[in-house]
Amino acid sequence: MGYGKYKEFADKIRKDCLYMCNVGASGHIGSMLSSADLIAVLYEKILNVDPNYPDDPDRDRFILSKGHAGAVVYAALAEKGFFPKEWMGTYYCDNGKLMGHISHHVPGVEYSTGSLGHGLPVCCGKALALKKQKKESRIICLMSDGDCNEGSTWEAIMFAAQTGLDNLTAIVDYNHIQALGFTKDIINLKGLTSKVAQFGWGVVDIDGHNYQEIEEALSHLPLEKGKPTFIVAHTVKGKGVSFLENTVASHYAHISDELLEKALQEIGD
Ligand SMILES: [Mg+2]
Repeated sequence: MGYGKYKEFADKIRKDCLYMCNVGASGHIGSMLSSADLIAVLYEKILNVDPNYPDDPDRDRFILSKGHAGAVVYAALAEKGFFPKEWMGTYYCDNGKLMGHISHHVPGVEYSTGSLGHGLPVCCGKALALKKQKKESRIICLMSDGDCNEGSTWEAIMFAAQTGLDNLTAIVDYNHIQALGFTKDIINLKGLTSKVAQFGWGVVDIDGHNYQEIEEALSHLPLEKGKPTFIVAHTVKGKGVSFLENTVASHYAHISDELLEKALQEIGD
């Protein structure tokens, strides 16, 4: 099977994100672009969610813990028909439909986040509740490497293993850069995968821009029976736009009209 449909969807998501950061004169573009390929596979293939029935009690739950990159989820939801694409023209604007950080006021968004370290604990609660209700729904949390600096994330890691939440998957968009610098210089996450394995999770490292690896990891959940799954997706901040790639400045950048044109040319039609 080809992976062209993922590339096509990810390209649309990247362009939508650049457009939103342009109209909103704001946004965490580097963080959006690093997770665009993960989001493309999730919404194209993995997540059981329906734009016509967004509150289906049997749906999968996806929570973006790195809420500052919310536009990457808005783009996927808009492309899938959860709300009109025109809403993207109001991103980060006063009285706009799409808030800067991800908001559950937007159809298809499960939970509002922004301060790091909130997503995984909330996912644990949802996973436990759904298990008790004997539901088959899966809970998937996309975190940043900055999220892994937070104590609440590690409390959730311990809790999920203790309670055997094998319906829970955490993905780390490990782009090696956070708000103010390189992760290795702030709190080094070296050995993250083996640390989480020691905490009792099923773990795997993947290339977060390789569609085959992303699909393979997410198609066989849980990785280990009776354990929550932890996927460390190695990514590049700003992926897809050469002048943004692997730069701290891309964390929060205004995309001017000129930069927008340059970036869109790189991504192509
Ligand atoms: Mg990061």
